[in-house]
Amino acid sequence: MPNHKPVSFLDSVNRSFDRAAEAIELPKGLARQIRTCNAICEMKFGVELRGTYEIFTGWRATHSEHVLPAKGGIRYAPFSDQQEVEALAALMTYKCSIVNVPFAGSKSALCIDPKKYTLDELEHITRRFAQELDKRGFLGPGLNVPAPDMGTGQRMMSWIADEYQKLHPSEINARGCVTGKPVHFGGVEGRIEATGRGVQYGIQEFFRHPDDVARAQLEGGLEGKTIIVQGLGNVGYHAAKFLQEEDGAKIIGVIERDGALICESGVSVEEVYQYKLNHGKLEGFPHGKFHTDGSKALEYPCDILIPAALEGVITSKNAPRIQSKVIAEAANGPISYDADEVLQQKGIFIIPDAYLNAGGVTVSYFEWLKNLSHVRFGRMDKRFAEAQNAKILRLIETGIGKPLDKKLAEDLLQGPSEIALVRSGLEDTMRESYQEIKEMDDSNKKITDRRTAAYALAIRKIADTYDSMYL
Ligand code: NAD
Repeated sequence: MPNHKPVSFLDSVNRSFDRAAEAIELPKGLARQIRTCNAICEMKFGVELRGTYEIFTGWRATHSEHVLPAKGGIRYAPFSDQQEVEALAALMTYKCSIVNVPFAGSKSALCIDPKKYTLDELEHITRRFAQELDKRGFLGPGLNVPAPDMGTGQRMMSWIADEYQKLHPSEINARGCVTGKPVHFGGVEGRIEATGRGVQYGIQEFFRHPDDVARAQLEGGLEGKTIIVQGLGNVGYHAAKFLQEEDGAKIIGVIERDGALICESGVSVEEVYQYKLNHGKLEGFPHGKFHTDGSKALEYPCDILIPAALEGVITSKNAPRIQSKVIAEAANGPISYDADEVLQQKGIFIIPDAYLNAGGVTVSYFEWLKNLSHVRFGRMDKRFAEAQNAKILRLIETGIGKPLDKKLAEDLLQGPSEIALVRSGLEDTMRESYQEIKEMDDSNKKITDRRTAAYALAIRKIADTYDSMYL
């Protein structure tokens, strides 16, 4: 009888770490130092709501402090617990290291179902949580910088920034205490779409490597490839939308809380998303076939499966029945450690979460840089670049003796806008990091999968930081 005792999220992260540390022969003491979560704080605080006090429980974990600030999202979910927060904080440390973002890992969760509260109540609760985080040294532009995650978004981040500013009125970089803020409140263009955009860039990069594509038993490019996405929230919606509208992939399945929509000829992500916004569910969508057991749709044949909802959705129980060629982990921890082994034996190519969903923290890093420099990206060089481009255009047109095509000329004339710079920086990050992970995989005989390669890469870089401290 196979053992289906579930491997916890934290266990999965730690076991993946151990496997990678062993592959690069990291000294055991240093491995323990890197793997250990440095600090975790449970906070209980009361908020006066509806004529009484309601007590909330939240956590913030700082996994590492080998560089500062520590960085990681705040999750509002009724099922959160301390172990989950620790696992997510550790994953953040490795993620930042993989994509060369100079932050350590941190994470928060608040046990709450945000749908049960009004906007005013959520503001009250979030401001109180920000006070607790600040009081305990878990908030500050040079110390610890939260961001949105499941159940939180821009508005909450601006409440946190505002609360911090009130508590530290002379802190000139106060707005850099949190990222994922609205653009008019110190945010950066492209942050909302960033994680989904990063997923798109990561999958695009996979298709630029014919040996990886062949390893996944696929051929050709992204166009026409069939995709099933689980979770049409921030990450899943943007990833699926961009892959469909810009790369020509075919979205044949969408899985949400109430079930799954399967449509072999493909569905429009935008239409499904709008339907879900208006009806709060997928059931009743006029195209495709609706199935109430959403998790079963993970097992439906497709080229790329994108879990983009929550952790632990593929375990040793359903892993043997997964039929996709590639699993692109947009969510954090969607595959348990033992399921990962089953999927590898089946030859499924996994693009791991620690790399693939790092677009959010990468653009958060850009936002933090913007906050510290107090200037919008492109402000200094946009007009200058446009003037230079106009000169080049004149030269080209003089050389060829006729005006260039109007659209081409317009494109050439444009100077860099903030959104263009952010996307360019993100694309560069996702492409370079993919190549670094591949290089680690190709060069180490003990490594046979991309998760181990990604972890090994992260651990190597963090170990180098420790080594250089004691030179
Ligand atoms: P979100 O709350 O915006 O979206 C989650 C979506 O999943 C929602 O549409 C929800 O209805 C759906 N969902 C929930 N439970 C489900 C279930 N059992 N089956 C199917 N669908 C279900 O959250 P998000 O920000 O998109 O985050 C999704 C995942 O991506 C999480 O694992 C998160 O940690 C990870 N992540 C998010 C970011 C970010 O920038 N938001 C960055 C990195 C990683």
